[in-house]
Amino acid sequence: MSATIIDGKAFAARVRGQVAEHVARLKAEHGITPGLAVVLVGEDPASQSYVRSKGKQTVEAGMNSFERKLPAETTEAELLAVVKELNEDPSVHGILVQLPLPGQMSSDLVINAIDPAKDVDGFHISNVGLLGTGQKSMVPCTPLGCLMLLRDHHGSLSGMNAVVIGRSNIVGKPMAQLLLGDSCTVTIAHSRTKDLPEVVRRADIVVAAVGRPEMVTGDWLKPGATVIDVGINRVEGRKGLVGDVDFASAVEVAGAITPVPGGVGPMTIACLLANTLTACCRANGLAEPEGLTA
Ligand code: NAD
Repeated sequence: MSATIIDGKAFAARVRGQVAEHVARLKAEHGITPGLAVVLVGEDPASQSYVRSKGKQTVEAGMNSFERKLPAETTEAELLAVVKELNEDPSVHGILVQLPLPGQMSSDLVINAIDPAKDVDGFHISNVGLLGTGQKSMVPCTPLGCLMLLRDHHGSLSGMNAVVIGRSNIVGKPMAQLLLGDSCTVTIAHSRTKDLPEVVRRADIVVAAVGRPEMVTGDWLKPGATVIDVGINRVEGRKGLVGDVDFASAVEVAGAITPVPGGVGPMTIACLLANTLTACCRANGLAEPEGLTA
């Protein structure tokens, strides 16, 4: 048996297309253009490349892109002043501060200074609380992308056993909340989980967000399980990226699986655009786009 390959690249292109259509309607019918501001502190090459992609895709969706590049030696107070300015700017509907921040800053303090209504990364403590209590919130982009792929593949997720490997605030925890919201029975596994293969073997849905190349192998999986591989890892001596799942063995056992690259990765920016559109609609008291929120 060989699993269905979940094509995140194609799905993300569809999401970007839907966002662009909505944006065009917002402009034509209401004269409103959604705007996303991305703040980058320092010159980390990976962060610079992410910020470039975000800016490019924002413009391609017909939205305004504002980039604020600050030197690595920026103080926390200076960064907070930039965040305040963006909070108060009505042409900015979404604000993203690219992480990681340099060591002299508290990421928590900076993230929690963003207006929660503009927090398109969904990391503000208010959005975390809203998501955890099942209320309308801004949802972190990567887990939202995973949820969209799962809903598209399965329709209803109700009653399924889901195991999320990884408990980070960015992926693991919000992913678990979203799956719970869709009525899965959710287990969060992490570095101290005992007998992880046995835990994973119970899952109808496995979401791997660990950061360990090819850790989850086919013999850990229940036959027919759906595997969502969030991992993005570089392995010395090998070309390209590998996931947290050993694709070659997993594809023989799983029912469906996301590849790396071309699975979850492209969904993250697509969901960032979707969140910016959602934030803009909410700010203007307009109906939210269907199918683009949790
Ligand atoms: P993180 O380092 O913050 O968290 C990793 C988690 O894995 C931790 O909770 C830890 O408890 C758990 N873990 C570590 N070793 C383990 C082990 N041996 N067994 C079980 N659990 C273990 O990482 P993160 O930010 O959540 O990212 C996870 C992966 O997802 C990384 O590869 C990252 O690059 C990738 N990522 C991809 C996207 C995307 O757009 N596709 C977005 C964010 C993160």
